[in-house]
Amino acid sequence: MAIILKTREEIELMRESAQIVSKTLGMLAPLVKPGVTTLELDKLAEEFIRDHGAVPGFLGLYDFPNTLCMSPNDQVVHGFPNKTPLKEGDIISIDCGAIKNGYYGDHAYTFPVGEVSDDIKQLLKVTKECLYIGIEKMTTGNRMGDMGAAIQEHAEKHGYGVVRELVGHGLGRKMHEDPQVPNYGKKGRGKKFQEGLVLAVEPMINMGTHRVKHLSDGWSIVTVDGKPSAHFEHDVAIVDGKPDILSTFDYIYEALGIDEKDI
Ligand code: MG
Ligand code: MG
Repeated sequence: MAIILKTREEIELMRESAQIVSKTLGMLAPLVKPGVTTLELDKLAEEFIRDHGAVPGFLGLYDFPNTLCMSPNDQVVHGFPNKTPLKEGDIISIDCGAIKNGYYGDHAYTFPVGEVSDDIKQLLKVTKECLYIGIEKMTTGNRMGDMGAAIQEHAEKHGYGVVRELVGHGLGRKMHEDPQVPNYGKKGRGKKFQEGLVLAVEPMINMGTHRVKHLSDGWSIVTVDGKPSAHFEHDVAIVDGKPDILSTFDYIYEALGIDEKDI
């Protein structure tokens, strides 16, 4: 499949889809607390997305049964919402998709549940840094490998493992378009970034080994060593040769009263 570059008009439509996902994550943020179940959050997210004139992007895609992918602790991505309450000290990656005007938005945030340990705080911080360090490389002068290498270098500097089996992707009228966007690689290698490219950039960083395995449910992916994994995702377009982040974590920061802004 060839890469489908987007026009300015399409990018603005994609910003709308991305922002609906951003607002959904912002709505969920204060509810991510000990005692809540991921299934409760899933229902709220579905309602919220439909109320905003969009359709849940994951529901029914590849037969996925829910609106959100909910991946706690050692689960990397693709977990199902369930009736197990979250508990103090957990982390939960909430990955959300929405379709509006025929275009997908797709982004994710890993939330701490209550108070988490310092080493988990560090994992979350570094994974989010990896996301922005990668995005910075998304300029028309660079190649895909420049982005992957930058993410990998930052994660490994902290002794973390970069998941290999799962990658980011092109985004548009389809949830997964070309190209694949690895969070590892070599500088100067891979395809050149082009004007109008829209990517879902999503580092998945493990506290321990990079190795992962599938659970028998056919979806959930966990770390082999059982250590936690974090995941942050933005939708990013190349506009005027530079990265333009279509999604935002600002709704989350506002809801939680965190003094942090998208870079
Ligand atoms: Mg996602
Ligand atoms: Mg994605």
